[in-house]
Formats: sequence, structure tokens, C-alpha cells
Amino acid sequence: MSEETVTRAAVVTGGSRGIGRAVCVALAKQGCNVVVNYCHGAEPAEQTAALCRAEGVDAVAVQADVSTAEGCKTLFDAAVNAFGRVDVLVNNAGITRDGLLLRMSEADFDAVLNANLKGAFLCCKEAARRMVRQRHGRIINLSSVVALRGNAGQANYAASKAGLIGLTKSLAKELAGRNITVNAVAPGLIETDMTAALPEAVRTGMLHSIPAGRAGKPEDVANAAAFFAAEQSSYLTGQVLCVDGGMAM
Ligand code: NAP
Repeated sequence: MSEETVTRAAVVTGGSRGIGRAVCVALAKQGCNVVVNYCHGAEPAEQTAALCRAEGVDAVAVQADVSTAEGCKTLFDAAVNAFGRVDVLVNNAGITRDGLLLRMSEADFDAVLNANLKGAFLCCKEAARRMVRQRHGRIINLSSVVALRGNAGQANYAASKAGLIGLTKSLAKELAGRNITVNAVAPGLIETDMTAALPEAVRTGMLHSIPAGRAGKPEDVANAAAFFAAEQSSYLTGQVLCVDGGMAM
């Protein structure tokens, strides 16, 4: 790929808020045009797109439910329509439906696996099709430290995030020869809507297990994703980078 003539295009799933929004802005700062995917929040997604444009790139917000094949097709058709290519995919969209095993419904297990793991698989497939033709690509999957450590009350979520590590390493092996890297970022406790609802006692307990003594910011995670997305990171694949203040050590 000639960097002089081509502006890279990035697709960020769940880019409307939290970590996804910070990733969109970090990739915009890197000079990528950005597709800001969202499921329900059109207004916050438009705000993210505006933040990207303020960095001097182009950005579009695209509604699509990535837990379905139709949603992923819609998303990538829109991306190609807007920018003609897909160079970076960040599988960030994620949900939780917490509960102890004996109380966890099959519906809650399926919903989390479909959004967090199947959604990433479907997006990787859509992206890789284009990246293979371009002979260039960067895929970054948002896992979690709970994939490595487990977490009581999050069997569905931890399984989905552990699955993402297996997906990452398998695709890294499949796609390395095509100049496509696949890596994972595993955040610890990050200040977003997802963690704002945690009961105070759970939060305090988690903070005690973080050597840095504090929660992270979405930008901390976005910096790691941008590092994997960078042109200079072409010899880095199949890795899992914890961004957790030392929590998973
Ligand atoms: P968040 O604030 O809850 O935001 C989740 C994002 O995902 C929203 O933009 C949401 O869009 C989108 N989304 C959810 N389901 C979707 C679907 N089916 N299709 C498309 N978009 C969908 O979450 P976050 O804390 O920023 O987390 C981002 C990622 O990091 C997640 O994968 C999460 O598991 C992972 N992570 C977070 C932490 C943490 O401490 N926060 C720790 C480890 C890992 P709408 O609002 O439009 O529905």
C-alpha cells in the first residue's frame, strides 16, 4: 500500500461511546478515515464522528447490529461505499448480562456470545475478504482480563472474551502471509458506562486488585489499539496486550 496516495479506512464496532469512541478518535489522530458503528445510540455515534472530523479526517456513523450476519454486511457495505476500502477493523462492540451460573438464562448466555464473539467473527470475515485483496490489514479484538482470570458472575462474558483470544491467534496464523495482523487488547477496569453500574463493594474489591491503584481511562485502551493499528506494527501479530494497571499479573 502506498501511504502517500491512500488514506487508510478504519471500522470500529460500538464506536458511539466508551472505549470505542476513544479508539475512533485515536485512529483519526493516526490519519484514518473512520466508520463509527453503533447499535442503538445514533446521537452519540454522530458526536464521535464529529470528534474524528475535528482531527482532519472523514468519518461516518453507521447503524448495524454486529451480532447478525445482515448487520455486519450492512456495516462493511457502508464502509466500502464511504471510503472504498477497509484497512483497520476494531472489534470493540460488547455487552454484559451478568449472573451466577445457576441463575444465568440460556438467552443471556446466547446474547453475550452473539454480540461479543460471533459479532467479531462475522466482522473479521467481512473485513478479511477485503484486506486479503488489498494485501494489507490490521484487526484488533477487544478481549478482557476476565478472559485470562475468569470472574464469578460473568461466565458468559468471560467465555466470550476468552473465545476472542482463540479467534485472534487462529486468524493471526491464517492471515499473517497476507500482510494482515490480528491482535487483542485485554482491558482491566476502565471507566465507562459498562462499569459505571457496578455495585460500590465490587468496584472497591476490583480496585484493591489493581497494582496501579486506579481504574483506567478509555484513552489508555485506545492507545494500545492504535499501536496495533499503526503501519509500523506490521511484524506484531497474535498478541494479547493487557491494559489493566497490572491487574492480570
Ligand atoms: P460500553 O460503554 O457499554 O459501550 C458498548 C458499545 O458497544 C456501545 O457503543 C454500543 O452501541 C456497542 N454495541 C453493543 N452491542 C452492539 C451490537 N450488537 N452491535 C453494534 N454495537 C454494539 O462498553 P465499553 O466499556 O466501552 O467496552 C468496550 C469494549 O471493551 C467491550 O467489548 C467490552 O467488553 C470491553 N471491555 C471493557 C472493559 C471496561 O472496564 N469498560 C474491560 C474489559 C473489556 P450502542 O450504545 O449504540 O448500543
